[in-house]
Amino acid sequence: MARLELRQVRKSYQSLEVIHGIDLVVDDGSFTVFVGPSGCGKSTLLRMMAGLEELSGGEIMIDGQRCDHLVPSARGMAMVFQSYALYPHMSVHENMRFGLVNAKLPKAEIEPRIQRAAEILRIEPLLERRPYQLSGGQSQRVAIGRAIVKEPKAFLFDEPLSNLDAELRVKMRSEIVALHRRLGTTMIYVTHDQVEAMTMADKIVVLREGLIEQAGTPIELYARPVNRFVAGFIGAPQ
Ligand code: ADP
Ligand code: MG
Repeated sequence: MARLELRQVRKSYQSLEVIHGIDLVVDDGSFTVFVGPSGCGKSTLLRMMAGLEELSGGEIMIDGQRCDHLVPSARGMAMVFQSYALYPHMSVHENMRFGLVNAKLPKAEIEPRIQRAAEILRIEPLLERRPYQLSGGQSQRVAIGRAIVKEPKAFLFDEPLSNLDAELRVKMRSEIVALHRRLGTTMIYVTHDQVEAMTMADKIVVLREGLIEQAGTPIELYARPVNRFVAGFIGAPQ
């Protein structure tokens, strides 16, 4: 579990600033959703938290300790991507095992973690399959399984359901929320889908062009949007 804090976080690509100084506290154990239109900087923010992208300014703290200089594996975060990012030449089991072997986890701990994640996600029958033999929903379960086995301090989801059809998306939403209840781990979930934000979040952070427009509970944002952009985006009547 982890409390995350962003202080004046900035990002520029070449001379163009795309994240303009973000301050945010993500509460320990919360399910926080970053929502905003395409290009507003959601993925960039998540990638900076994960350590996949350097900051141009500011600081990121985990449980009060600065972490923005740490390599990704030292931060204790697990990221789940829209594209699943599974290793195509490895079985499901090997996909889940790979990161743990790399992290030099004792052998005796590896197999129980994989079995437990497989049970939680109901992917036990798929363990010997290769990624090309999986449906979209199964692939995303495996991608989540690969994050669970790491027992991270926080999960970072970047539009994990965008490639799935509408029916499966609704089902997976409730599975991810159930997973959060079961594990209690801090989760940050990025989406451009307002319904996903409203139905899944404890706290919603509305982003627009590299800045936070408003952060609050779904009810706060729905009942008291600070401006028309938030109102329009969250879907409250104007
Ligand atoms: P979102 O995930 O909300 O759609 P992104 O974080 O991907 O937004 O992008 C935010 C902005 O940063 C966009 O204007 C995008 O074009 C730009 N951007 C993202 N990645 C790069 C990159 N590697 N090089 C240059 N510009 C980038
Ligand atoms: Mg994105």
